[in-house]
Amino acid sequence: MTPTKRPDIAIIGGGIAGLSAARTLFHQPVHIHLYEKRNQLGGRIRAIKNPFDLPDKLARLDHGQHALTGGHKETLALIQSYSTPAVAQLRSSVIFPNQFSVTRKYLPAPFHWLAGLLLSPDCSQKDIFSAIKLGCYAVKTKISPLSKDILLSELCSELKLSKKLLTYLITPLCLAALNTPAHKASAQLFLNILHTLFFTDQQASDIFLPTTDLTTLLIDPIVNQLKPDHHIHERSRIVSIKITQNGFLLTFDRQGFLETQTVDAIICATAPHELDGLIHDIEALADIHQMIQHMEYETIETVYLQYPPQCQLPYPMIALHMPFGQWAFDLGQFRSRYPNLDRDVRGLISIVHSASSGIPKNERQSLIKQLHQHFVDIGLTPSSSPIDHLWLIDKKATWRCSPSLIRPTNHTRLHNFLLAGDYTEPHLPGNIEAAIISGQKAAEQLLLNLGIPPKK
Ligand SMILES: Cc1cc2nc3c(=O)[nH]c(=O)nc-3n(C[C@H](O)[C@H](O)[C@H](O)COP(=O)(O)OP(=O)(O)OC[C@H]3O[C@@H](n4cnc5c(N)ncnc54)[C@H](O)[C@@H]3O)c2cc1C
Repeated sequence: MTPTKRPDIAIIGGGIAGLSAARTLFHQPVHIHLYEKRNQLGGRIRAIKNPFDLPDKLARLDHGQHALTGGHKETLALIQSYSTPAVAQLRSSVIFPNQFSVTRKYLPAPFHWLAGLLLSPDCSQKDIFSAIKLGCYAVKTKISPLSKDILLSELCSELKLSKKLLTYLITPLCLAALNTPAHKASAQLFLNILHTLFFTDQQASDIFLPTTDLTTLLIDPIVNQLKPDHHIHERSRIVSIKITQNGFLLTFDRQGFLETQTVDAIICATAPHELDGLIHDIEALADIHQMIQHMEYETIETVYLQYPPQCQLPYPMIALHMPFGQWAFDLGQFRSRYPNLDRDVRGLISIVHSASSGIPKNERQSLIKQLHQHFVDIGLTPSSSPIDHLWLIDKKATWRCSPSLIRPTNHTRLHNFLLAGDYTEPHLPGNIEAAIISGQKAAEQLLLNLGIPPKK
């Protein structure tokens, strides 16, 4: 590379990690070539056409319900940098209607949740002591992490936590935050999350639900900034990476035709299981290749149930004790907090089933009936039947947060080859926040490598 030439940087993967890297680079003196194998950008937060036949409906839905917490600080900042109001905030609560309920109070953390537990008629002294014990453990391990990571279920039995705390708080929180059941999940990663959500600030545990699809909020604005000066190649799957004297030679498959591109540096922002085929023959990346072989994945299933627009659940968000689903979101109620938005999702309820072992197709209809009956029992008003439904499944929704899993970070031993993606952030589970931070960090590191001073 001559000193005056703008370096060519390839970003492999047009998910939010790749786009976050591109956003960090796009004002810099570089040429970005972003490759996405699908015919649309967004990766796991890509949009789908809203299939429900209703007037004034929202045009697109996310390919799977996504919820953010106040702990998604970079994500919320990014969304808000493009559009306001874009997320509806819900004071954190866990409500299993007619069974268990706790809502945080207006106090500084962690007293907001402590007061919530103390004032909940469903919590006994034993439950509150259990919660305090676990909270103290989260603070302790923030300062001095566990010397040996263990399963969350093991930690819970070591601490002799109450059954109610396990059933109504720890199990649903672990599934929601780590997409991993407690008997397979890393205790340390769960404690990190607990610390962020309940011990940092009052709003960190609150739920922030996007009021429209994430492509409109995050993907399109970044793409619009990139498009004028950089190259975005959709339907272009990178099939091989070769190391050359001055950089890399990429071969990509653009709708059945092979093309090549030489670049000075690469940020590889695919999911870990998609990285395997790209790096398996690169010796300098053998350690990364070995790490990703040990990673396992968890499924998430989302069901969108479209009711007539006037239908509402008694709460915007409820926890479920059902054969299918751990959380249900009444999207119309979230969105009604911003009545000036032009399209609505009234009557649309999304149900999320994390760490699913896969529901056979022939069982879906009966599960939908059970869900509907549950909604009627807890006070769906009026109690009409759903008009339609959409069942979505992502078999590798996130990597499994197993104890002591050794994961790659942004850095690799190959000069000017960096990684980004939700699996590269050491203290976070696989989520949007991790993906966004990883993209920013990979891009900043690359600028340092290339001797380009960072611009804000
Ligand atoms: C159903 C579901 C629900 C979720 N819920 C939440 C939630 O509530 N909150 C939360 O924070 N997170 C949630 N997540 C996780 C979140 O979506 C992901 O952590 C995040 O989107 C990962 O982004 P990424 O850019 O790292 O990876 P990806 O989005 O997977 O992006 C990788 C991209 O690389 C492309 N690619 C792969 N190989 C190649 C190649 N050879 N050439 C070119 N392109 C390639 C892929 O097509 C993809 O677009 C959920 C995920 C799913 C699936």
